[in-house]
Amino acid sequence: MATVTILGAGVSGLVTALALAEAGHRVRVVAERWGEQTTSAVAGAIWMPYLCNPPERVNQWSLETYRWLASLAADEPGAGVDMLTMYESTPDDADPWWRAAVPPEIKLELIGRSPLRPGARAWRFPVPRVDPSFCLPWLRATLEARAVGTRTERIDDLRNFLARERDADFVVNCTGLGAKRLCADPELHALFGQVVHVQPGAWDTREAAGDEAEGVAYVIPRRGVVVVGGCSIEHDSDAPAAASDAVTREILRRVDGWGVRLGPVVGQRAGLRPSRSAVRVEPDEAEPRLIHNYGHGGAGWTMCRGCANTVVGLVDQSA
Ligand SMILES: Cc1cc2nc3c(=O)[nH]c(=O)nc-3n(C[C@H](O)[C@H](O)[C@H](O)COP(=O)(O)OP(=O)(O)OC[C@H]3O[C@@H](n4cnc5c(N)ncnc54)[C@H](O)[C@@H]3O)c2cc1C
Repeated sequence: MATVTILGAGVSGLVTALALAEAGHRVRVVAERWGEQTTSAVAGAIWMPYLCNPPERVNQWSLETYRWLASLAADEPGAGVDMLTMYESTPDDADPWWRAAVPPEIKLELIGRSPLRPGARAWRFPVPRVDPSFCLPWLRATLEARAVGTRTERIDDLRNFLARERDADFVVNCTGLGAKRLCADPELHALFGQVVHVQPGAWDTREAAGDEAEGVAYVIPRRGVVVVGGCSIEHDSDAPAAASDAVTREILRRVDGWGVRLGPVVGQRAGLRPSRSAVRVEPDEAEPRLIHNYGHGGAGWTMCRGCANTVVGLVDQSA
């Protein structure tokens, strides 16, 4: 059994903590922000590989996560995971790059319509959708029930932190965009995203849809509200981003123009995706006790359990 400190309490940190605790390790989580204050709370959060690389690893991580989320949808109603029917528009009939991420027993069919954009062709298949306002508290409560300790603290120097956590065999860095400063990682950058929360209106809340014909657009029902997105804009700071009324108007103008009849707006939220040329799940080159798990771009929920499993493998192999 190893003692492991997780740094970060977004989806990456909490799911990594859970996977390690389930594997029998002694775990604690340290983070500056929790729950609704994290980027993970802003996400849709539908299972869909998007804005992440490299394809082979992403597909394997996403496949493992699909199976885990589907099992939560079946067995753990409090986790906030539900199976929806997804319509993902496609410009052609070629297999999508993420085909291998969908479990082979799941039917992925190309059909001649989408509930989002008239005239679009779409891949239709069942997907897990997480409601983070349920899942993040559920993850924290599940960890606490497993005796995983939690601490709120901002860390400014990773080497100092490693020295202070001297009883930890490993520290896992799950700090999302925070890794840009902590690791001085020039590869990591922020991609601004914004969503609008609306009442369902005429939208069938058993269905979700995505489209990239005119920039990224999606409609994802949560348990209480429908999340409408989106955008992906390069952002030159890692300071928290504010939602703007102009972006909300643009998001709603597009889906309204397609004839989608949604209910009144109840809120808007923005976040910064931790984008990287390749998701970083690997041991540090210089510090054998340090493992990284960050840079999940637009698919942190989609890959969470697969990445966590890789971390468990690294810990088991060296413990
Ligand atoms: C608008 C939008 C829509 C999205 N939709 C989806 C979707 O539908 N599906 C999907 O899979 N993904 C989606 N994403 C992407 C997803 O939200 C991210 O990939 C994911 O949240 C990253 O999770 P994380 O745990 O790595 O980082 P975060 O959620 O940012 O958590 C980082 C944690 O590290 C802590 N931390 C950072 N720095 C420090 C420090 N110095 N000291 C102490 N603690 C620190 C933070 O406090 C926090 O607890 C979306 C993102 C956005 C913005």
